[in-house]
Amino acid sequence: MANAVKAIRGMNDILPNESYRWIFFEQAVQRWLSAYGYRNIRTPIVEQTDLFVRSIGEVTDIVEKEMYTFVDHLNNDSLTLRPEGTASCVRAVIEHNLLYNGPQRLFYAGPMFRHERPQKGRYRQFHQVGVEALGFAGPDIDAELIVMCARLWDFLGISGLRLEISTLGNAESRALHRIRLIKYLEQHRDSLDEDSLRRLHTNPLRILDSKHPQMQQLIEHAPKLMDDLDEESCAHFETLQRILREQGINFDINLRLVRGLDYYNRTVFEWVTDKLGAQGTVCAGGRYDGLIEQIGGKPAPACGFAMGVERLLTLMQECGTGIDPQVPDVYLIHHGDQVLSYAWKCAEGLRDQGLDVMLHCGGGSFKSQMKKADASGAKYAVIIGDDEFNAQLVSLKSLRESVAQATVPLHDVAEIVRQQI
Ligand code: ATP
Ligand code: MG
Repeated sequence: MANAVKAIRGMNDILPNESYRWIFFEQAVQRWLSAYGYRNIRTPIVEQTDLFVRSIGEVTDIVEKEMYTFVDHLNNDSLTLRPEGTASCVRAVIEHNLLYNGPQRLFYAGPMFRHERPQKGRYRQFHQVGVEALGFAGPDIDAELIVMCARLWDFLGISGLRLEISTLGNAESRALHRIRLIKYLEQHRDSLDEDSLRRLHTNPLRILDSKHPQMQQLIEHAPKLMDDLDEESCAHFETLQRILREQGINFDINLRLVRGLDYYNRTVFEWVTDKLGAQGTVCAGGRYDGLIEQIGGKPAPACGFAMGVERLLTLMQECGTGIDPQVPDVYLIHHGDQVLSYAWKCAEGLRDQGLDVMLHCGGGSFKSQMKKADASGAKYAVIIGDDEFNAQLVSLKSLRESVAQATVPLHDVAEIVRQQI
């Protein structure tokens, strides 16, 4: 046998005994977003590399070491598989001038690509649902995004998520803070690890995110952004907190919350669980008021978040959310040459009645077909042989309950099947 070709490490197949859970999730998410007036936007999976470098930031983990970037040899363009969705969404909004029609509530869903070390909850192709509110300045939209998340967790049967919020202030206060931070870190150069030394002048804020045990004390005593915060950002943050309290949303303020993308300002937040080990952040986002202008649009404020679908699905399993696997209502068994066309007609007739029908293909005895019917997980077998064909009826047998087989007219089947849950 030839060597079998395998999937790429960290990029998973989602097989049928799992995909029904994805479908449940996707449908729930679509209903939820539609209930809040968010509309779907679909952008290409590949973009010009420059889009991500300019928006996510040159000195970030994503741009420095996680992007799948390649040269399109047909025209020498540098292209990148999208590592996240906000940049593409903003690019499309600018390119099609969507904000001309006023603020936009948008969402997208699909695969993202980051070259990370694969482990539980961390993959190289993973999936996000992203929600973006563009053209809104106030803290009310920040609150809406957070409140709607809380509603989704209820909807999905997820409990125990902790909300962490913080504010990064405006561009000026961040610049001021940066200077103070660099000064502080320079005084403690000896305690910095290699990564941090490299970032000292390029991305000092990221140093505070280091998990290095040796640096924890240094991080603990570093100057706090809160002390450099501008008045407007303070007020924005206060109002956000007030609305969240009014809406009964619990939160922790975590002033050390640093997001891995440069475009955030003011509000940032994460939903975190203890149930998934190290990969505990299931949803994260914040405000990015400067991004639209930064990548060539007319200045406009915006706020958004993205959630990790794989992590949420695992969490739903941990929380015991019940999702029915996909099984047919009816498995249709038929035997005899003259009944074939009648059997096909009956199958379509049952589908017209709204039933999911698996029609037996491949022939075989009644007995062997019955085994397939059992294995299919269907609730009922509909059986068609010469007798049923001659009477223009069908036989119906429950595969779950011990009730006698009955011969009935086709149009009665749906009602009987629906009586049994
Ligand atoms: P982390 O700190 O776990 O690396 P991040 O800050 O890089 O996360 P974001 O860019 O904010 O993540 O993406 C939003 C969400 O997407 C994350 O909270 C997480 O649920 C999910 N996510 C990010 N990277 C991965 C990945 N490699 N595999 C699976 N899910 C991911
Ligand atoms: Mg990451």
